[in-house]
Amino acid sequence: MPELPEVETVRRGLLPAMEGVKIVDAAVNRPNLRWTLPENMAVRLTGATVTALRRRSKYILADLDSGETLIIHLGMSGRMLISGVAVGEFVHEHPAPQKHDHVVLNMENGARVTFNDARRFGHMDLGETATLEDHWLVSSIGPEPFGNGFNESYLVQAIKDRASPIKTVLLDQRVVAGLGNIYVCEVLHRAKISPIRRASNLSKKRIESLVPIIRDVLGEAIEAGGSSLRDYRQADGELGYFQHTFRAYGREDAPCVTEDCTGKITRIVQSGRSSFYCPKCQR
Ligand SMILES: [Zn+2]
Repeated sequence: MPELPEVETVRRGLLPAMEGVKIVDAAVNRPNLRWTLPENMAVRLTGATVTALRRRSKYILADLDSGETLIIHLGMSGRMLISGVAVGEFVHEHPAPQKHDHVVLNMENGARVTFNDARRFGHMDLGETATLEDHWLVSSIGPEPFGNGFNESYLVQAIKDRASPIKTVLLDQRVVAGLGNIYVCEVLHRAKISPIRRASNLSKKRIESLVPIIRDVLGEAIEAGGSSLRDYRQADGELGYFQHTFRAYGREDAPCVTEDCTGKITRIVQSGRSSFYCPKCQR
């Protein structure tokens, strides 16, 4: 499931194909994805120019000169395929239509952007750009981890009275936007905080320490995604999934990489999801 760094990588990969470029033809091949798609979606997209391609949490936002914004969510398995333009050193020819190609955008620069999603947990919607922050998909999302609204005093206020485990609190999208299971495990490992510790039991100083760590962990993953775009070789032109090495996530029974720690990474299940952590240095 794509998390914020993967979505940001997809956005950056789409920039040369979409930003500042007119959609000359849009095909919407089914009435619904996760939810019902907007009425006359293909007509509303056709002829519109993408004035900016932004990201809010795990949503890619394509602002259109029609005054609407196309909201794109990749869900669990959604993929953006790009063909017809050079990405790095490679030009992907337009592929034959595939099953699960739900939305296809032909751009004026010759690029084709295809949203393919076998499981259909992804979604697209159109909302008025001017009032987009009130759109139901994004209205309850907390501050962006790289934005000014996310800082030490904010985080202390947001979580100091929460009795839930810190991992659960950080996964709450109202607290901070876009943090998912993988990167919360990484953040807590780096912060040496146990995922089972109650948020309300953490000192102010330890909560504050999470702010730069969250930014570092996400920033490094975005950078890794950027390098995957540069030497981009996948035959089908898929954007956004890249190899990244983790310190905790997926490393059950492996030695902890914290300096001078002799512990081992352990896996536990919290709220139905795996937490990977080192019981020795994460307290
Ligand atoms: Zn350790």
